[in-house]
Amino acid sequence: MLDLVSLGELLIDFTPVGISEHNNPIFERNPGGGPANMLCAASKLGLTTGFIGQVGDDAFGHALRRTLQENKIDTANLLLSKQYKTTLAFVHLDEAGDRSFSFYRKNGADTMLRFDDVDLEMLERTRCFFFSSVLLSEGDSRETSYRLAEYAREQGALTVFDPNLRENLWENLDDAKACIQKALHLADIVKVSEEELYFLTDHAGLLDGGRMLLERYGLKALLITMGAAGCCAVLPEYSLTVPGFDVKAVDTTAAGDSFTGGFLYKLLAGGYDIDRIEKRELLPILRFANAVGALTTTKKGSIHALPDGEEVLTFLRR
Ligand code: ADP
Repeated sequence: MLDLVSLGELLIDFTPVGISEHNNPIFERNPGGGPANMLCAASKLGLTTGFIGQVGDDAFGHALRRTLQENKIDTANLLLSKQYKTTLAFVHLDEAGDRSFSFYRKNGADTMLRFDDVDLEMLERTRCFFFSSVLLSEGDSRETSYRLAEYAREQGALTVFDPNLRENLWENLDDAKACIQKALHLADIVKVSEEELYFLTDHAGLLDGGRMLLERYGLKALLITMGAAGCCAVLPEYSLTVPGFDVKAVDTTAAGDSFTGGFLYKLLAGGYDIDRIEKRELLPILRFANAVGALTTTKKGSIHALPDGEEVLTFLRR
């Protein structure tokens, strides 16, 4: 049995970190992809995990597979494509240090994942299935994502969706909205940022918009992350806001992903049923998730910045 299986994009990003003595730019190479970050966070905390995705049968793809394996993730469903190359992304840093991306992903291996190539047995033995919208934006992976989410649900897994909207991956935002709405119908728990909530509810306000999404799509829980301010959860019977922690943030990359990883770790390891969870049980879970997100912002990078369980507990005890 696995606790958590994540479907997602998997790529290498190149971030400029300086200039060499011969005047050549130096790039740092990092594994990228929200669902993989989320899964690494959950795995590092102690869940048993598996990844579904595709990379090229090339040096980048092999490096990515090693990274997942080093994080104790089952990679039996990480396919190595002979036909397509691993997706690459180049990071631009503006003067404030904010990141934007140029993607090299037309026919990138991750976006060309076919449903028939996935070994469904992994979904028959997982308690929870996570997916996001990046694989919905192009290629065979759009249909594959919907079908895998449907299958996981039929098998009784809890389904979790993070829109993780990357606007520049979409030809137009109407298409993005329609695809995300279709995914929301397949989800039990959804995690959105405030910006995504406003995008999906036409600026209906935080709690009103949250409740609107919950009811419209029949969700069991909606989690809204609010950066340093913490998070808010909306459930059918109640809502709950939990303030964030005061830390010295140096890089917010992967904070949202690790928040979700921390949330799912506490929920699944604690054996809670999201249909019946009480407010007093949910509070420490959200506080834990906030701590995981906050700690991730105190280090540079994504997977390398994720805390382990000991670090989170020490932080919560301070
Ligand atoms: P995303 O927009 O990717 O969903 P956020 O930036 O809202 O992610 O961060 C997710 C979570 O990480 C927040 O809910 C919060 O708990 C924590 N977090 C993020 N930024 C900070 C920060 N600057 N200080 C403290 N906690 C933070």
